Amino acid sequence: VRLFVEHPLQALQTIPLTEAQSHYLFSVMRMGEGAPVLLFNGVDGEWLATVETAHKKRGALACVEQTRPLHLPPDLWLMFAPLKKARTDFIVEKAAEMGAARIVPVQTDFTNADRIRQDRLQAHALEAAEQCGGTFVPEVSELMRLDKLLEGWDASRRILFCDEDLVGQGRWLDQQGAGRDTGPWAILIGPEGGFSAAERKRLHALPFAHPVSLGPRILRADTAAVAALTLWQNALGD
Ligand code: SAM
Repeated sequence: VRLFVEHPLQALQTIPLTEAQSHYLFSVMRMGEGAPVLLFNGVDGEWLATVETAHKKRGALACVEQTRPLHLPPDLWLMFAPLKKARTDFIVEKAAEMGAARIVPVQTDFTNADRIRQDRLQAHALEAAEQCGGTFVPEVSELMRLDKLLEGWDASRRILFCDEDLVGQGRWLDQQGAGRDTGPWAILIGPEGGFSAAERKRLHALPFAHPVSLGPRILRADTAAVAALTLWQNALGD
């Protein structure tokens, strides 16, 4: 069992568990005192702990030793237009598994969603990090309008603009001299309706945005997000 906790992790430290974590460990998993649990908090790496108090509501663990140091992901953001709930959840989960450093929901001209449940999406990112063995949890940002985000953009972070109009034309990072540079980077995926003409014009004119193709077919937005993260990891990830 692996858990994210909001406590400093160091040898001999007692870690109080939330009611939900206590329920999971002691009612669902039926763990008893002395049982091992892996912990991470996004800062101190991964730690082995053992059950100190197996209380079904207010359990506690005792930190034993560090099992892995903190591994920070490369500086890659995934920006995507939120879709229906289940598909948005899927994108957040996969982005956390694939090691995105930050997940940025953006409202584009053709985005249907005008709000997101940031806390719920953050919880999905956390669960994905617990599950995939990551020692870091990507932050899920508030929903922001794409044009506003681009206004204040730091030009040193280049955008891989996944442009469905380039379907079948050329390949991923070979295009537009995006090369094999280290970051910081951001991947931008549009909504099911694609980008508007005005957005495409603006993105094509930005010196730090590189239009890229994801291959010979038009992918659904959630597939496109996973494909782009995978291609990025293959070319530039660690
Ligand atoms: N409505 C658009 C159309 O039919 O032409 C398709 C939009 S696609 C479902 C959603 C998003 O996935 C796009 O905005 C783009 O960011 C990305 N995408 C999908 N397939 C792509 C491809 N072959 N190349 C680049 N981006 C792609």
